[in-house]
Amino acid sequence: MGQHPGPFQADQKEPDLTAENADDLEAARLMFAAPFSFVLSCHGVAQLPSDGRPEVAFAGRSNVGKSTLLNALVAQKGLAKASNTPGRTRALNVFSREDGVGPILVDMPGYGYARAAKTEIDTWTRLIFDYLRGRAVLRRVFLLVDARHGLKPSDEAAMAVLDEAAVSYQAVLTKCDKKAAGDAMASAVATALRKRPAAHPTILATSAETGAGLPELRQAIREATL
Ligand code: GDP
Repeated sequence: MGQHPGPFQADQKEPDLTAENADDLEAARLMFAAPFSFVLSCHGVAQLPSDGRPEVAFAGRSNVGKSTLLNALVAQKGLAKASNTPGRTRALNVFSREDGVGPILVDMPGYGYARAAKTEIDTWTRLIFDYLRGRAVLRRVFLLVDARHGLKPSDEAAMAVLDEAAVSYQAVLTKCDKKAAGDAMASAVATALRKRPAAHPTILATSAETGAGLPELRQAIREATL
């Protein structure tokens, strides 16, 4: 792949090109090389699947590119968009491989609407907190950050909730269509995350447009849910 930011670490390590890593990348690719479908949309933790399968969740400011990234991850254009109908955008949207193999993917409601009412923010915070606190199968939250805008106060607030709930999370930069810009922002975000107790040290730089970083994101999901 030409533009390939890949995982970024604060110490600027070169990408791991060992055979073992190639095997992991291939296993992760296969994990996502089957049809996924929308399972359900829920406003309460009690409605979530209870079959014990491991789970990862995706969070981020509205417009961060979450739907686009989820669709790119599973190479299905309409998957996350299909759930983006009124009523579902403030809910937890659940996706899974149709054959039930692999982890459950949970699309968390976007936050940071400039004009969101306080009651809406309170409702979001309660749902998120209940979810993060009460979900034993949740292995990692991928916190999406727009590489063009960097961390905003609402991202800091989300990270504070994640730290408080002690849920492991990893930052994923979106819209890294240009490698240099993505790397510069990854460095800035990595510095900010060093102070965060529950944050994964590796920042993933992705672009749904170029496909950059998607193999590494799939690999991170696999690693988190093995
Ligand atoms: P969501 O609200 O987080 O689900 O965001 P969307 O997936 O709807 O994307 C918001 C906007 O960002 C849309 O206009 C997308 O076309 C754009 N976008 C998403 N991913 C990328 C990307 O990788 N590169 C670029 N340049 N734009 C993107």
